[in-house]
Amino acid sequence: MYLLVTKTQEIAYIKIFKIIGLNKMTNKLLIAGNWKMNGNKKDISFIKGLSKFISNNKLKNIEVLICPPFTLIDKFSSLTSRSPINIGAQDCSSNDSGAYTGEISASMIKDFNGKYCIIGHSERRIYHNETNNLINNKILQAQEENLRTILCVGETLSDRKNKRTLRVLGNQIKSSLKGKINPNQLDIAYEPVWAIGTGLVPSNYDIEEIHNFIFNKLKKIYGNRAKNIRILYGGSVNSNNISSISSLNNVSGALIGGASLKIGDMKSILKQFI
Ligand code: PEP
Repeated sequence: MYLLVTKTQEIAYIKIFKIIGLNKMTNKLLIAGNWKMNGNKKDISFIKGLSKFISNNKLKNIEVLICPPFTLIDKFSSLTSRSPINIGAQDCSSNDSGAYTGEISASMIKDFNGKYCIIGHSERRIYHNETNNLINNKILQAQEENLRTILCVGETLSDRKNKRTLRVLGNQIKSSLKGKINPNQLDIAYEPVWAIGTGLVPSNYDIEEIHNFIFNKLKKIYGNRAKNIRILYGGSVNSNNISSISSLNNVSGALIGGASLKIGDMKSILKQFI
């Protein structure tokens, strides 16, 4: 893992993965935008523009998801009710209701027609001390309300430098997916923490190797049903790298932060799938 390979070697490795049967899953690719703490009422022009772009252009085998702050889920959901764009949340509470000041429950997200919930983003893990156990409970809550969940996993730079990447990812997956998780309502986003918002992206070889590792982990837990779980890549995705990243084996789309905030960038990304 993390071998220093030349571009030619990288292409050769990717071909070998294809030959030995690690084929692309048949699910629709998911292009998901994580707006983080950005966006106000004025940004309804973004969602209107994106809906128009999608209805004027035939996107091939792509599902588009926007996860704005909670305050915009209701408005965005009603503006996209007749468009193929799905709206989701960036987090939910691990409880269903009650005295939890400031929390938003999965049922509230559903009430506003949110369809997805991102859970365990590294910013939640870092700034809110979220543990795998808490993340597990949040996934269970979200799935209880039929929200499709995107579990984020990823290693820090120090994990990477100390060759702990696979151990960290394996543990995040195993510990966050305990209990009655429905793999048909689950996607995973592999987001190396050091690649988020930095402009740094792992090599295609590394991305593919890690996605294959994640897929094999999921297969051990869910058997054949693991094929329904999309494994997204996230971290400094833009219109220049989306095409090559999304064509790798076991990469079924992308979770996009910064570039999902600008309508021009989103259109450039989606144009690669027309
Ligand atoms: C993210 O925060 O989920 C993310 C992938 O951010 P960016 O695309 O800006 O690196």
